Amino acid sequence: MTLKIKNTLTGKKEEFKPLRKGSVSMYVCGPTVYDVAHLGHGRSAVCFDVIRRYLMYRDYDVKFVSNYTDIDDKMINRAREEGVMVPELAERVIAEYDRDYASLGVLVADEAPMATSYIDEMVEFVGRMEKAGVTYVIEGDGVYFDVSKSATYGKLSGQKLEDLRIGARVAENEAKKNPYDFVVWKFAKEGEPHWPSPWGDGRPGWHLECSAMSWKLLGEKFDIHGGGGDLTFPHHECEIAQSESVFGEGSFAQYWMHNGFITVDKEKMSKSLGNFATLKDILSKYDGRVVRLMFLQTHYANPIEFSDDLLEQAKAGLARIHDFVRNLKVSDGGSMDFDLEPFVEKFEEAMDNDFDTSGGLAALFDLIKYVGFDTDYKKEPILKALEAMDQVFGVIFVEEDSLDSEIESLIKDREDARKEKDFEKADQIRNDLLKKGIELEDTSNGTIWKRL
Ligand SMILES: [Zn+2]
Repeated sequence: MTLKIKNTLTGKKEEFKPLRKGSVSMYVCGPTVYDVAHLGHGRSAVCFDVIRRYLMYRDYDVKFVSNYTDIDDKMINRAREEGVMVPELAERVIAEYDRDYASLGVLVADEAPMATSYIDEMVEFVGRMEKAGVTYVIEGDGVYFDVSKSATYGKLSGQKLEDLRIGARVAENEAKKNPYDFVVWKFAKEGEPHWPSPWGDGRPGWHLECSAMSWKLLGEKFDIHGGGGDLTFPHHECEIAQSESVFGEGSFAQYWMHNGFITVDKEKMSKSLGNFATLKDILSKYDGRVVRLMFLQTHYANPIEFSDDLLEQAKAGLARIHDFVRNLKVSDGGSMDFDLEPFVEKFEEAMDNDFDTSGGLAALFDLIKYVGFDTDYKKEPILKALEAMDQVFGVIFVEEDSLDSEIESLIKDREDARKEKDFEKADQIRNDLLKKGIELEDTSNGTIWKRL
């Protein structure tokens, strides 16, 4: 079977051929860390996490890099508002991102560089661009990239520079040679954080970060570059222009992947979803795996119309998965062989088709439906197949969380109470758990429980 990826660069679904056999290098644009994560950040993180995980499932050795933008106007303004230093703001917000992403089951990146840790490399990169003759200086402003010097500018978003020029609004900066020229090194104004450079004290432009850090961490050429669909233009277009101006056409990322938007019916949101704009708010009401499953139910490139119904559906779906697994685990299992092949095949076929998680999940739910809750099949091979799928989904098996072990220990207390014929205490424990939304059921195999 071949893995196919829809490449934004060509607009086609292409067979995936990594630069180096057996390994994949991947760069995903991360957030600007001036404020907490929103749903859209969470979706992007989960989309590329699953893509990374499936590549690992396919036995690729994956190097995954995702950055944090910790210096720009928004960072400077927010830090000023809060009366803190920029690094202090960045540290706090990055910790919140890390916590939210961990709740969503997102694996930690192999490298998660902060822009300010690669200033030397960025200065070097500007120097190389200057040598290539694609930059110019606007006094008192910064070093700019001249897009008219890039033969391929517009190739990612499918636009011609000529058309862009005609459609451009009057440039906000009249000193620029072309309206789409962008700053690669911004000179510092009074009181702003700054670093030395041959052109003057300043800080890197946003687009420069990704070109410089991917070069340092993955090389001049790497396999996959990802990000939210809104980054295609101008951010990714500018990254390509910079990197190709230094390393030549065809360098930089070979496959470009973009995840879809999340749309919210605003009116509905204020009525039923309250303050659900941030991940933190959603995660205070829903298990991270529910949110993760909600994302995975839609193909990464498609938009999601977000609603509380969608979350409730995912919650019900996850409960079904977990009830199935728990019952399978506690049951003795049967002696019949079960043919897992068609389900695994369906899962892989879907995932090979441009990481179609919704098709992959359909294979999982088919399997659950087919095996059923009271089975005569051998349980170990089924659990193994689920474990394999869960390397990708990351929602089926979980380390026993503190609530789970708390429940298990209460169930044990209740059993002890019943042995001692203290039925009042046993009932008390049962009712207390019920109030927490946990229902106990006594079976011949012992007590099982489920979340209501
Ligand atoms: Zn980027």
